[in-house]
Amino acid sequence: MPTVTAADLEAAIRNVPDFPQPGIQFKDITPVLADPRLFRGAIDLLVAGFPAGSVDKIIGIDARGFIFAAAAAVKLGAGFIPVRKKGKLPWNTHEQSYDLEYGSATVAIHTDAILPGERVLLLDDLLATGGTAAAAIDLLNRLEAKIVGAGFLIELEALEGRLRIAGTPVHSLIRY
Ligand code: AMP
Repeated sequence: MPTVTAADLEAAIRNVPDFPQPGIQFKDITPVLADPRLFRGAIDLLVAGFPAGSVDKIIGIDARGFIFAAAAAVKLGAGFIPVRKKGKLPWNTHEQSYDLEYGSATVAIHTDAILPGERVLLLDDLLATGGTAAAAIDLLNRLEAKIVGAGFLIELEALEGRLRIAGTPVHSLIRY
Protein backbone atom coordinates (compact mmCIF):
# COMPACT_ATOMS: atom_id res chain seq x y z
CA MET A 1 0.00 0.00 0.00
CA PRO A 2 1.46 3.42 -0.93
CA THR A 3 2.53 5.70 1.91
CA VAL A 4 -0.02 8.34 2.89
CA THR A 5 1.06 11.92 2.21
CA ALA A 6 -0.18 15.21 3.62
CA ALA A 7 -1.69 15.86 0.17
CA ASP A 8 -3.77 12.67 0.51
CA LEU A 9 -5.09 13.92 3.85
CA GLU A 10 -5.79 17.38 2.44
CA ALA A 11 -7.79 15.86 -0.43
CA ALA A 12 -10.02 14.06 2.08
CA ILE A 13 -10.66 16.97 4.44
CA ARG A 14 -14.06 18.53 3.86
CA ASN A 15 -14.46 22.28 3.94
CA VAL A 16 -17.84 23.25 5.40
CA PRO A 17 -18.63 26.95 4.93
CA ASP A 18 -20.49 28.85 7.64
CA PHE A 19 -20.30 26.12 10.32
CA PRO A 20 -20.90 26.45 13.24
CA GLN A 21 -21.47 30.13 12.51
CA PRO A 22 -21.40 32.46 9.48
CA GLY A 23 -17.88 33.23 8.24
CA ILE A 24 -16.20 30.10 9.65
CA GLN A 25 -14.76 27.61 7.15
CA PHE A 26 -14.98 24.44 9.21
CA LYS A 27 -12.36 21.80 8.40
CA ASP A 28 -14.14 18.46 8.77
CA ILE A 29 -11.61 15.70 9.44
CA THR A 30 -14.17 12.87 9.78
CA PRO A 31 -13.48 11.56 6.21
CA VAL A 32 -9.85 11.01 7.28
CA LEU A 33 -10.99 9.04 10.34
CA ALA A 34 -13.41 6.95 8.28
CA ASP A 35 -10.68 5.73 5.93
CA PRO A 36 -8.41 3.21 7.71
CA ARG A 37 -5.45 3.94 5.44
CA LEU A 38 -5.71 7.71 5.87
CA PHE A 39 -6.32 7.49 9.62
CA ARG A 40 -3.26 5.32 10.15
CA GLY A 41 -1.26 7.57 7.79
CA ALA A 42 -2.30 10.68 9.71
CA ILE A 43 -1.11 9.14 12.98
CA ASP A 44 2.19 8.02 11.39
CA LEU A 45 2.82 11.55 10.06
CA LEU A 46 1.85 13.22 13.36
CA VAL A 47 4.37 11.18 15.35
CA ALA A 48 7.13 11.09 12.71
CA GLY A 49 10.27 12.21 14.51
CA PHE A 50 9.13 10.77 17.84
CA PRO A 51 10.40 7.20 18.12
CA ALA A 52 8.63 4.78 20.49
CA GLY A 53 9.92 5.45 24.01
CA SER A 54 10.79 9.12 23.35
CA VAL A 55 7.54 10.45 24.82
CA ASP A 56 5.96 9.53 28.17
CA LYS A 57 2.47 11.01 27.66
CA ILE A 58 0.48 12.24 24.69
CA ILE A 59 -1.91 15.05 25.50
CA GLY A 60 -5.16 15.33 23.51
CA ILE A 61 -7.30 18.46 23.48
CA ASP A 62 -11.10 18.08 23.84
CA ALA A 63 -12.62 16.73 21.64
CA ARG A 64 -11.13 15.90 18.24
CA GLY A 65 -7.62 15.96 19.68
CA PHE A 66 -8.55 12.90 21.77
CA ILE A 67 -8.93 10.78 18.64
CA PHE A 68 -5.45 11.50 17.32
CA ALA A 69 -3.72 11.57 20.71
CA ALA A 70 -5.19 8.23 21.82
CA ALA A 71 -4.16 6.45 18.62
CA ALA A 72 -0.70 8.08 18.72
CA ALA A 73 -0.25 7.04 22.37
CA VAL A 74 -0.89 3.39 21.49
CA LYS A 75 1.54 3.60 18.57
CA LEU A 76 4.36 5.15 20.65
CA GLY A 77 3.75 3.11 23.80
CA ALA A 78 2.95 6.32 25.71
CA GLY A 79 0.12 7.20 28.10
CA PHE A 80 -2.84 9.32 26.98
CA ILE A 81 -3.90 12.41 28.94
CA PRO A 82 -7.03 14.43 28.17
CA VAL A 83 -7.19 18.21 28.44
CA ARG A 84 -10.93 18.68 28.82
CA LYS A 85 -13.43 21.48 28.87
CA LYS A 86 -14.11 22.70 32.40
CA GLY A 87 -16.46 20.62 34.50
CA LYS A 88 -15.86 17.26 32.80
CA LEU A 89 -12.91 15.80 34.73
CA PRO A 90 -13.94 14.06 37.96
CA TRP A 91 -10.78 14.47 40.09
CA ASN A 92 -8.77 17.51 41.28
CA THR A 93 -7.92 19.80 38.38
CA HIS A 94 -5.87 22.77 37.28
CA GLU A 95 -7.88 25.14 35.09
CA GLN A 96 -6.90 27.74 32.52
CA SER A 97 -9.23 30.23 30.82
CA TYR A 98 -8.60 31.82 27.43
CA ASP A 99 -10.37 34.30 25.17
CA LEU A 100 -12.48 33.26 22.21
CA GLU A 101 -13.69 35.62 19.49
CA TYR A 102 -16.83 36.03 21.59
CA GLY A 103 -16.51 35.24 25.30
CA SER A 104 -14.05 32.83 26.86
CA ALA A 105 -13.49 29.13 27.51
CA THR A 106 -11.77 27.14 30.23
CA VAL A 107 -9.78 23.91 29.90
CA ALA A 108 -8.73 21.59 32.71
CA ILE A 109 -6.29 18.77 33.46
CA HIS A 110 -6.07 16.39 36.41
CA THR A 111 -3.48 17.58 38.91
CA ASP A 112 -1.86 14.13 38.95
CA ALA A 113 -1.92 13.56 35.17
CA ILE A 114 1.80 14.18 34.63
CA LEU A 115 4.85 13.82 36.86
CA PRO A 116 7.40 16.66 36.87
CA GLY A 117 9.87 16.20 34.02
CA GLU A 118 7.77 13.75 32.01
CA ARG A 119 8.12 14.23 28.25
CA VAL A 120 4.81 15.14 26.67
CA LEU A 121 3.57 15.67 23.11
CA LEU A 122 0.44 17.79 22.58
CA LEU A 123 -1.89 16.87 19.69
CA ASP A 124 -5.01 18.46 18.24
CA ASP A 125 -6.79 18.40 14.90
CA LEU A 126 -6.35 22.08 14.09
CA LEU A 127 -4.32 25.13 15.12
CA ALA A 128 -6.25 28.36 14.53
CA THR A 129 -5.54 31.35 16.82
CA GLY A 130 -3.54 29.13 19.18
CA GLY A 131 -5.61 30.12 22.20
CA THR A 132 -6.62 26.55 23.02
CA ALA A 133 -3.10 25.18 22.60
CA ALA A 134 -1.62 28.04 24.65
CA ALA A 135 -4.05 27.30 27.49
CA ALA A 136 -3.18 23.58 27.35
CA ILE A 137 0.54 24.42 27.41
CA ASP A 138 -0.02 26.63 30.43
CA LEU A 139 -1.57 23.64 32.24
CA LEU A 140 1.34 21.41 31.21
CA ASN A 141 3.83 23.98 32.49
CA ARG A 142 2.04 24.08 35.85
CA LEU A 143 2.62 20.33 36.10
CA GLU A 144 6.29 20.88 35.15
CA ALA A 145 5.99 18.70 32.06
CA LYS A 146 8.78 18.73 29.49
CA ILE A 147 6.89 19.64 26.31
CA VAL A 148 8.66 18.01 23.35
CA GLY A 149 6.28 19.35 20.70
CA ALA A 150 2.80 20.23 19.54
CA GLY A 151 1.36 18.49 16.47
CA PHE A 152 -1.68 19.46 14.40
CA LEU A 153 -3.28 17.88 11.37
CA ILE A 154 -4.18 21.36 10.09
CA GLU A 155 -2.75 24.84 10.67
CA LEU A 156 -4.61 27.99 9.59
CA GLU A 157 -1.48 30.04 9.03
CA ALA A 158 -3.12 33.45 8.66
CA LEU A 159 -4.29 33.29 12.28
CA GLU A 160 -0.67 33.01 13.48
CA GLY A 161 -1.42 30.49 16.23
CA ARG A 162 2.24 29.45 16.19
CA LEU A 163 3.21 32.81 17.64
CA ARG A 164 0.93 32.23 20.64
CA ILE A 165 2.84 29.07 21.49
CA ALA A 166 6.33 30.28 20.63
CA GLY A 167 8.81 28.19 22.59
CA THR A 168 7.03 24.94 21.75
CA PRO A 169 8.16 23.21 18.53
CA VAL A 170 5.08 23.11 16.26
CA HIS A 171 4.55 20.46 13.60
CA SER A 172 1.56 20.69 11.25
CA LEU A 173 0.74 18.42 8.32
CA ILE A 174 -1.51 20.66 6.22
CA ARG A 175 -1.33 24.46 6.11
CA TYR A 176 -3.98 26.80 4.69
P1 AMP B 1 -7.78 28.07 18.40
O1 AMP B 1 -7.85 28.05 19.90
O2 AMP B 1 -8.29 29.35 17.80
O3 AMP B 1 -6.41 27.71 17.88
O4 AMP B 1 -8.79 26.96 17.87
C1 AMP B 1 -8.42 25.63 17.84
C2 AMP B 1 -9.53 24.72 18.30
O5 AMP B 1 -10.79 25.08 17.70
C3 AMP B 1 -9.23 23.32 17.85
O6 AMP B 1 -9.51 22.44 18.94
C4 AMP B 1 -10.13 23.06 16.66
O7 AMP B 1 -10.71 21.79 16.75
C5 AMP B 1 -11.19 24.16 16.70
N1 AMP B 1 -11.28 24.93 15.43
C6 AMP B 1 -10.98 26.23 15.27
N2 AMP B 1 -11.19 26.66 14.02
C7 AMP B 1 -11.63 25.57 13.33
C8 AMP B 1 -12.01 25.33 11.96
N3 AMP B 1 -11.98 26.30 11.04
N4 AMP B 1 -12.38 24.08 11.62
C9 AMP B 1 -12.41 23.09 12.54
N5 AMP B 1 -12.08 23.25 13.83
C10 AMP B 1 -11.69 24.47 14.24
